[in-house]
Amino acid sequence: MKFGGTSVADASRFKDVFNIVLGASRSDKGMPVIVLSAMTGVTNALIDCANTAANGNAAAALEKLETIKQRHYQVVTEIIPDSSQELLISALDVDFNRLSVLLQGIAYLGELSKRSLDAISGCGELLSSKIFSAYAISQEAPAVFLDARTVMITSDDYGKAVPNMKELTAKSKKEITPHLQKGKWVITQGFIGATADGVTTTLGRGGSDYTASLIGAAINADEIQIWTDVDGMMTADPRLIPDARPIATVTFQAASELAYFGAKVLHPLTIKPAVEKNIPVRIINTLNPTSPGTLIVERADNGETVCAIACKKGQTAIFIESAKMLMASGFLAQIFNIFARHETSIDLITTSEVSVSLTVDNTDKLPQIEEELKQLGDVSVMQDLAIIAVVGRNFRAESGIAARIFKALSSINVTMISHGASSINISLVVSNKDVEQAIKLLHAEFFALTAVRS
Ligand code: ADP
Ligand code: ASP
Ligand code: MG
Repeated sequence: MKFGGTSVADASRFKDVFNIVLGASRSDKGMPVIVLSAMTGVTNALIDCANTAANGNAAAALEKLETIKQRHYQVVTEIIPDSSQELLISALDVDFNRLSVLLQGIAYLGELSKRSLDAISGCGELLSSKIFSAYAISQEAPAVFLDARTVMITSDDYGKAVPNMKELTAKSKKEITPHLQKGKWVITQGFIGATADGVTTTLGRGGSDYTASLIGAAINADEIQIWTDVDGMMTADPRLIPDARPIATVTFQAASELAYFGAKVLHPLTIKPAVEKNIPVRIINTLNPTSPGTLIVERADNGETVCAIACKKGQTAIFIESAKMLMASGFLAQIFNIFARHETSIDLITTSEVSVSLTVDNTDKLPQIEEELKQLGDVSVMQDLAIIAVVGRNFRAESGIAARIFKALSSINVTMISHGASSINISLVVSNKDVEQAIKLLHAEFFALTAVRS
């Protein structure tokens, strides 16, 4: 059971989470592992502290840290019985003192490495889980606190560390399963891990979902539950489309595409461990726990042809045109090689006989890539684009989907279209400024109609 930041936003939410876990532990499904995120906004606030310190402003960084501290201590005062507060505060003080020392060091050096940033940004999860654990124990729940860094061993790619599933599985057998078998809840943190040498790492923003599915797969859980602030995976981002509605069931494949193309409700890597062990993933609302949410499974035969629309802003398109491509072999390989050497992954690609268009998310190495591509042909770059992914099932077998997409978007300039690689996704590239309107038009086309039909 993974609870996101909004699920632990304040004292009363901590109590809600406790009641949800209590209910689950009384069912016949066995004991839960509880994976907690940082309180909402805390990871951003910690990163802000680190950046403030790196700019040499130690006093401002410490002041910001104090605000974070007071927010946590407020929750402690509200939910922890007086007799247990002192013990918990001294445990939290350890983290705040360490943060304070780290921030002062960063300000002194005027330098923030990715490794230091992980040591700071990963603290929010430790704080929220320590509070939740103390609260659960104060309510006489059979709770055990587990520092995720003892099981989640990762690479040293700070900020996007790669977990070692073999190690996690082996360590879970010792640190997690025996507790569950004894009827205990195991409370741990999402997002963080450690290298084999014990240095703190993070799995990337939004990575607590990924932690939950990794642990779920490691212990062969019956279900991986992602508790959040919406009623499941929805037909579009509800912040953009207020009448978006939850999808009852969706396949692993479609959920992965949606997550990859911007459905923030799920970290894009969450599905991978679940697929490997064929464990269902459920997305449920902490604020509405009786709603069924979305069940993500291997096969979901029912449902509409188009299940949801997602979007990812801030994309860059690169166009390579060259007469040399005409009838030549190995040209695409040369292009891919350049991107591979610069460790930049390509999201969408379309080709004609003399041109290649592709999009990338990460532009860190773009100047070098552009320079090398120029050896192959004329290169142009367009920025401030967005990818829209229309995801569903069996597009190849159904006619009319593309027609409906383009009819809906007749007033929008579409820069690129990609379909074919998968029969469940038609992707389009539009300007960032048009993306909201485009999603509204597409949502109205596909989901207003089905509402009328049903
Ligand atoms: P948590 O803190 O629980 O991890 P997130 O903010 O990471 O929550 O993810 C939940 C948010 O994802 C929702 O509030 C919603 O605005 C956004 N979201 C984007 N696309 C979708 C979608 N297709 N379905 C549901 N939520 C979505
Ligand atoms: N707290 C982390 C973040 O904000 C991880 C997560 O919430 O999933 O990115
Ligand atoms: Mg999230």
